[in-house]
Amino acid sequence: MNEPLIRLEHLNTWFPNDKPILGKPSSWVKAVSDVSLDIIEGECLGLVGESGCGKSTLGRAILRLAPLYSGEIRFMGDDIGKLSGKRLKPYRSRMQMVFQDPKASLNPKMTIFKILSEALVLNSGVVKEDYLEQAVKLLHLVDLRPEHIYRFPHEFSGGQQQRICIARALATDPKFIVFDEATSALDVSVQAQVINLMKALQDKLNLTYLFISHDLSIMEHVCKRVAVMYAGEIIEVQDADALFASPRHPYTKALKNAVPIADPEFRNELGILKGEVPKLSDPPPGCHFHPRCDYSQDICKKENPLVSETGYNSWVRCHFHEQLWTKGELIDNKESS
Ligand code: SF4
Repeated sequence: MNEPLIRLEHLNTWFPNDKPILGKPSSWVKAVSDVSLDIIEGECLGLVGESGCGKSTLGRAILRLAPLYSGEIRFMGDDIGKLSGKRLKPYRSRMQMVFQDPKASLNPKMTIFKILSEALVLNSGVVKEDYLEQAVKLLHLVDLRPEHIYRFPHEFSGGQQQRICIARALATDPKFIVFDEATSALDVSVQAQVINLMKALQDKLNLTYLFISHDLSIMEHVCKRVAVMYAGEIIEVQDADALFASPRHPYTKALKNAVPIADPEFRNELGILKGEVPKLSDPPPGCHFHPRCDYSQDICKKENPLVSETGYNSWVRCHFHEQLWTKGELIDNKESS
């Protein structure tokens, strides 16, 4: 097994609800709460959860694009959480992000060559005279035609625009890329093509990915390991195969059952996620999932469960995971009452 490329230790990203002139804010939006997680070199780690659970903030926090309230971010062993300015700059170029909306990510007034050149400035291994040659290489890497290098973003389809965004991310010679819902806005067939490209690039360039999505079903095709996020916390991490075959946390099970399936009768039998996603400024006490959990008991309303290891780099946060997860799967909720 490879070493962790990224190690997060008790990471907290909180935003103040108010900004008093004197003293501390009265309350905080805890977008990322006490997250400890390794991202192994060369892996594609999935990060899944409903909208508003804090997963995009976590992706941005790792790249130091969101404020760090407390905790550690280690990249290749170096603690980058407290770095800023010139000392952070060399790390920034090794970590990139690809966003959901490629159209909004590309400056409509710039040609593709200009867009890629702007990113190549951050690559200390490339001199200005070689920008055109490098930009052509980048277009080849993402299967776009180099003769289109002087075109503008609007002259490309959505899928092609996302390929340009990926080329721009690669321009800085990164080791780690966060894909934040990067395929969510694309048609299904285009989505598959972009995912295949991502996988091919990962193998070719030995990249490490964090793949963020609200859609658990897509993780199965992309990720080796999946982390599940709820109300700012990571509540389960498992190998993707194990997680899809038999999730251990009641929320993951509900998330899996909420994946759209063709037969509505079967869907009703499985049940879907009930209730609202909690506010990050005021999550329920105890286990944040308890108001929506079919297995909730008194202790769940008072105490937030600790992490229980279930294997190498795998764990779950639930008071009753051992009692509930028997015979290789979560028991039916009626049996647990
Ligand atoms: Fe459900 Fe309790 Fe486990 Fe939370 S700790 S997931 S409420 S059983």
